[in-house]
Amino acid sequence: MPHLAADLTAITATPLAEIPPSGIRAFAQKVDDIPGLIKLTLGEPDLNTPEHVKQAAVQSILDNDSHYSAQKGTPKLRRAISAYLKRKQNLSYDPETEVIVTVGATEAIACAMLALFQPGDEIIVPTPSYALYFPLIQFTKAKLVPINTAKTDFVLTPEALKDTLRQHPHAKAILLNYPTNPTGRECSSSVLAQLAPIIAENHLYVISDEIYGELTYGIKHTSIARYLPDRTLLINGLSKSHAMTGYRIGYIAGPANLISPIAKMHAFLVTAPSNPAQAAAAEALEHGDYDPAQARPIYQKRRDYLVKALNDLGLKTMTSEGAFYVFTQIPAEYGTDDEKFALDLARQAKVGGTPGSAFGPGGEGHVRFSYAASDADLHEAVNRIKNFLVTKDDN
Ligand code: PLP
Repeated sequence: MPHLAADLTAITATPLAEIPPSGIRAFAQKVDDIPGLIKLTLGEPDLNTPEHVKQAAVQSILDNDSHYSAQKGTPKLRRAISAYLKRKQNLSYDPETEVIVTVGATEAIACAMLALFQPGDEIIVPTPSYALYFPLIQFTKAKLVPINTAKTDFVLTPEALKDTLRQHPHAKAILLNYPTNPTGRECSSSVLAQLAPIIAENHLYVISDEIYGELTYGIKHTSIARYLPDRTLLINGLSKSHAMTGYRIGYIAGPANLISPIAKMHAFLVTAPSNPAQAAAAEALEHGDYDPAQARPIYQKRRDYLVKALNDLGLKTMTSEGAFYVFTQIPAEYGTDDEKFALDLARQAKVGGTPGSAFGPGGEGHVRFSYAASDADLHEAVNRIKNFLVTKDDN
C-alpha cells in the first residue's frame, strides 16, 4: 500500500508564489469586460435552484438551525448521500465513517490531494482535464503524469493506461473526471470495466470527480467505484445537478481507511458548510431526482443545437455526451493557437469561449463553449461566430 500523508506534511509544499495563475482565469481577465460579450465561458447552470430545495434552506433558518454542524456534515445529509449513492450506483457507504460533506467538490478535490499526495508521488491525469487539478498537484509537490487523450477521442483507453504505467510503474493515483470538463466526454461502463483491473494490479488509488454524473445525454453514468470500491474516492456535489453552485455543497465517499486522513484535513481547513445549505442539499438528494431529470432534456436540446450549428459552419466538434460543454476544433488557419482564436472571437465577434490549452496536453487547438446559456444567447452566439468566420474568409 502506498504511504498516506496523514501527518499532513504535504501542506508545507510548493510556495504559492511559484504556482502560475490558472489559464482560464488569466484568459477571463482579458475578455470579461468586453461590452456585450456573450459568455460561453461559464461552467455553471443558468437554471434556478428548484423551489423545494430553496424552501428547505429557508425552513432551516426559520427552525433556528444555527448551531455548529458536525464537522463531517450533518448526519441527515450524510445519510442522504449514502442512500443516493446506493440508489444510483448500488454503492454502500457508511454515513458515519465513509462520507464527508465538503464546501463544494472543490474542497473535496483539494482535501483528497492534500491528504493523500506526498512530494514526488506520481499522479496520472488523462488530459485535457479540469484546470484546478494542475496547481493542486503542483502545490503538494506531487508529479503530474498526463495522458493526452486527444488521439483516442478524449477518453482514456486501457492501452494508453498500460503504456503509461510501463513508464511510471510506481504511480500512486489516477484522477478521473467523467463526464469530463472540458470535453463533455463520458467513459462507458465497458471501458471502465477494462480500466479497473489495470488500476487494481498497479495498486493505484482513484480520485473520481463525478460532478457532472447527473448530466449525461443518451448514456447513463457509471461510477468507477462500482468496480474498485476499495481504492476509489468518489467526489460529487450539488452544484451542477441541482443548479446550486452558490450553496457550496460537495462530498467525498470512500473506504474508511482513505476517508480518515481526508476527514482530518477537512476538519483542519474548514469543518462543514452552513446548515441551511446542508438542509437544502439533503432535500435535493432525498426528494430531488426529478430536478436533474428535468434539466437533462434542456441541456441536451442545447447541445444538439450547438453541435449542429457549429458543424454547419464547418467547425469540427468533439464527442460530447455529458456536462454542458462542446469542445470545438479551431479553424485550421490558427494552427494550434487556441488562445489567439479565442481572443479574436471575443474581441471581434463578442463571443467568449475558453482556450483549450488551459486544460492541459491535448487541449491545444480547441476552444470550449459552454451551453449553460439561454437559447437566445446560443442563437446569437452562433450568428456572431458565423459572421466572424465569413469576415475572415473575405479578408
Ligand atoms: N470538478 C469539475 C470537473 C468542475 O468542472 C467543477 C466546476 O466547474 C468542480 C469540480 C467544482 O465544483 P463545485 O462547485 O462543487 O466546487
